[in-house]
Amino acid sequence: MQNPGIYLSIPFCRQKCTYCNFASAAFPASLLDSYLRCLSSEITSRIPLWAQSELSISLQTPADTVYLGGGTPSLLPAPRLDELLQLVRSEFSIPKNSEITLEASPENVSPEQAAAWAASGVNRVSMGVQSMVLTELRAVGRMHSAQTVSSTFAALRQAGIENISVDLIAGLPLQTSQSWRDSIDSLLALRPTHFSVYMLEVDEDSNLGREILRSGNRFHASDIPSEDQIADFFIAACEQLREAGYLHYEISNFALPGMECRHNRKYWEGIPYFGFGVEAHSYDGTNRWANTDSLDEYLQIASQQKSPVVHSKSLNQKEKIEERLFLGLRQLAGISLSRMEKDFGVNPQNLFSDQFQEFAACGWLVREGDYLRLTDSGVLFSNEVFAGLIS
Ligand code: SF4
Repeated sequence: MQNPGIYLSIPFCRQKCTYCNFASAAFPASLLDSYLRCLSSEITSRIPLWAQSELSISLQTPADTVYLGGGTPSLLPAPRLDELLQLVRSEFSIPKNSEITLEASPENVSPEQAAAWAASGVNRVSMGVQSMVLTELRAVGRMHSAQTVSSTFAALRQAGIENISVDLIAGLPLQTSQSWRDSIDSLLALRPTHFSVYMLEVDEDSNLGREILRSGNRFHASDIPSEDQIADFFIAACEQLREAGYLHYEISNFALPGMECRHNRKYWEGIPYFGFGVEAHSYDGTNRWANTDSLDEYLQIASQQKSPVVHSKSLNQKEKIEERLFLGLRQLAGISLSRMEKDFGVNPQNLFSDQFQEFAACGWLVREGDYLRLTDSGVLFSNEVFAGLIS
């Protein structure tokens, strides 16, 4: 049996970080209550509709992960968070040993907040640290400091939340190879259970990205490291974290043994999940659907108890195979060719033989026994590999 996961989107932030390309913003706090009403109503009204439709998974199947992402869910007042989790428990079967993750900004974590989260069942916190260097944090609009991060670890541990993940970004303005190494060293001293390390994304969806694409100077756009430097930072992080005992288990993710993120694994392994709120995505094993990424539209539609779904797609066999390949290859253990053959009735090596040969010749893909996996350099060129597989 595959246990689904539940995702809840809280798209509110105190301020917009310059590099952020999510559908989140510094919305007025007055909208939060309306949003939570709409979110609760979406949860309670969608489930009976799904129960009557042809979902590929029974809604009675226990959901063993709940993930509150955003945005900044740590901005939720503790009683609102508790009500939300109680509602999820009343609508879904959530076993006792489930992983319940809350994304947090370090400056929102007081000992009282941490204790309240733990009392509500939160047992994993994923913190948007990004850097431990003050000048880099201020350059991108982040309000915390290394000291705040360290106090946050203490507050969470005092509350009994030991499973703490941190996000880092390679390529922030003003970052150097030394400051990057210092950030990782300072975090290693706090011994988080999990690291997510991303390379700066430059696109039209963030203030910093747009400025870089226009060769401007605002948002410290002219202070970002070069692409080669960013790749070097990423490689250095992989080495530093592996040496410190962290398993590099997914392109951007590293965990102490046994502490991999159970919720995110569902995305990479094609396991169903149900998402609620702005820009939330869902997958039942055959169908994918996504909610609007506009808060205004979501509030308007959801308050009328209509569906906020704006995209839906039923995957055919070929699309399922492609997804299994490119999502599965994100995990560094790779994909089992015999398992794919059993699930889909075809050997992916026959279907994609040209692409496999091309990427093996580049040194990006390697076959080891039954497993096909990305090599270390393949991790850096994973976008090229995935694009080649889909085309
Ligand atoms: S990076 Fe996180 S905290 Fe910053 S604006 Fe985006 S969602 Fe909000």
